[in-house]
Amino acid sequence: MKIIDIISGPTPSLSFEVFPPKTTDKIDAVFDAAMQIAGLQPAFMSVTYGAGGGTSAYTAALCADIQNLTHVPVMAHLTCINSTRAQVHAQMQSLKDNRIENVMALRGDRVPEAHETDYHYASELIAEIAAEGSFCIGGACYPETHPESSSSFDDVRHLKEKQDAGCAFFTTQMFFDNDVYYNFLYRIREAGVTVPVVAGIMPVTNPGSIKRICRISGAALPQRFCRIVDKYGADPAQMKQAGIAYATQQIVDLFANGVPAVHVYSMNKPDVAAAILANVSTLIR
Ligand code: FAD
Repeated sequence: MKIIDIISGPTPSLSFEVFPPKTTDKIDAVFDAAMQIAGLQPAFMSVTYGAGGGTSAYTAALCADIQNLTHVPVMAHLTCINSTRAQVHAQMQSLKDNRIENVMALRGDRVPEAHETDYHYASELIAEIAAEGSFCIGGACYPETHPESSSSFDDVRHLKEKQDAGCAFFTTQMFFDNDVYYNFLYRIREAGVTVPVVAGIMPVTNPGSIKRICRISGAALPQRFCRIVDKYGADPAQMKQAGIAYATQQIVDLFANGVPAVHVYSMNKPDVAAAILANVSTLIR
């Protein structure tokens, strides 16, 4: 099933993201966690893609397992910055062979090791996938502006280029203040971006990693969120409960304001995904 049909429905949708194992010895644990999350029957699941290419083979395999074993629709991420055209097309073929209909088309982050590449920006990948004709294509967007962008104006202009190249929807980078998302929507709608924008929400249960994640993603931490981390960050059980509550509050507010879809960066944690889903179960389809 195509993601655009899922997120265009009358009731808001909740979906989850997982990432494939970084090393072979973690395969079983990651596949098991992903199956547990898929077993919650979210609206769809997405599986990320290693930009350096190291674990890229697992993305299609994990998507195929989720789709075949749980019948939950899947979206495979695909990056291009460290790949040749031949590598990208081989991956697209593998997705088609596994009957995967949805692709999140990304540039990816540059990695220190040198890689041969035929791409500069995600819009080039999006145009190639669109030309293939059968995939529903998603793209990434940045309510707080992509960290490499010279200005928020340029960033939105390039977002419109991704829509024009064939993106059916966008998913946001994580944000911790919903006003950031609402203001972003105003700006992109004015610039002619008309496709649905899925809100990406990260439940923070491990404060150790959050400063690094925010530095990389450009997401700002509001004062009220910092107070929670200050108060509960040292106690894993308290932080987990508080992080789930904070994410739930964000999601309820987004749904109440008419946002059609929320994608939860569930970080391969079935218990966190289950708790969030339980908290909003009557609000979604
Ligand atoms: P682009 O859309 O190409 O944008 C990158 C930068 O280039 C931006 O600053 C943009 O404004 C600028 N730009 C775009 N076009 C032009 C142009 N024509 N001229 C000049 N500047 C231009 N990374 C992974 O490795 N694997 C994943 O699975 C993954 N999943 C993600 C999912 C989501 C929802 C998000 C938000 C991010 C994800 N990322 C993933 C991270 C992403 O790859 C990085 O943020 C990356 O730096 C940018 O990718 P992009 O597709 O947004 O790039």
